[in-house]
Amino acid sequence: MHNFSSGPAILPKTVMQQAAAACIDLDDSGLSILEISHRSKAFTAVMEETEALLRELIGISDHHAVLFLSGGASSQFFMAPMNLLPANATACYIDTGVWSAKAIKEAQLFGNVEVLASSKAANYTYIPKQVEIPSDATYLHLTSNNTIYGTQYRSFPMTNVPIVCDMSSDILSYPIDIEQFGLIYAGAQKNMGPAGMTLVIVRKDLLGKTERAIPSMLDYRLHIANGSLYNTGPVFPIYVTMLTLRWLKGQGGVTEMQQRNQVKADLIYQEIDANPLFECPNATEDRSVMNAVFVAKNAAHEKPF
Ligand SMILES: *Cc1c(COP(=O)(O)O)cnc(C)c1O
Repeated sequence: MHNFSSGPAILPKTVMQQAAAACIDLDDSGLSILEISHRSKAFTAVMEETEALLRELIGISDHHAVLFLSGGASSQFFMAPMNLLPANATACYIDTGVWSAKAIKEAQLFGNVEVLASSKAANYTYIPKQVEIPSDATYLHLTSNNTIYGTQYRSFPMTNVPIVCDMSSDILSYPIDIEQFGLIYAGAQKNMGPAGMTLVIVRKDLLGKTERAIPSMLDYRLHIANGSLYNTGPVFPIYVTMLTLRWLKGQGGVTEMQQRNQVKADLIYQEIDANPLFECPNATEDRSVMNAVFVAKNAAHEKPF
């Protein structure tokens, strides 16, 4: 079966086989990954390896903490401002699609939100560029890959303002410079594993500045202090993510993924461009390498197609 869905997405066959075997018996322990304690030695080792693989593959320094949370990327739309944005401060957002718009809506609950640029009027067919970023902004929020509209940042704005980035649908698909980012979040189900785990990578020195009362489960500092084990975390999605990261490292890491993705994207965009029936509505330089979108040139063809 071919599954072109952006998420939950296809996982490597070997990962599925290993995950299936661990559901019966995890590493000859006599217990299933589904029934071991999240505080057991075996699972502590899984957490440590998953974090170590992420730090190695992405190049995450000690300035940043790595957290495995639940609630989906959608919960980060409010957790990020709740933890980073003081009530009287301003966060800047660039509106490049459905997910950006949802993030903007949630952030408005916590402080001032300035939408610096939006491509909404053009049906989100491009990424706004040369956007002036106020130097006193608490952070700049971007959606690196617009999963639904099929546009993607090729490079990130040069700014001293920490970037908060929703990388749900392109994390681990190209190398990044972690020092540009104050916070990165991603739901696992697009590029890393099954649904149920959300990765958060956060610069530790940005925390603790809001003077806001934050419920324990929504406070990054508490999750950092407890190594993502304040409560029972998403054990199985973390385990499968670890297997995927092992696979990814074995394939050659993020630079290899970047090359493979480019080859696949070139192939499909060439066909879309050459095909007399379809076209890609997006600005050529902003086309996503992850999600290629196309529409019928004649709208009457869409439904029968
Ligand atoms: C899928 C997606 C989300 C929503 O993720 P959930 O884990 O379902 O909350 C958010 N942002 C982007 C860019 C996505 O692709």
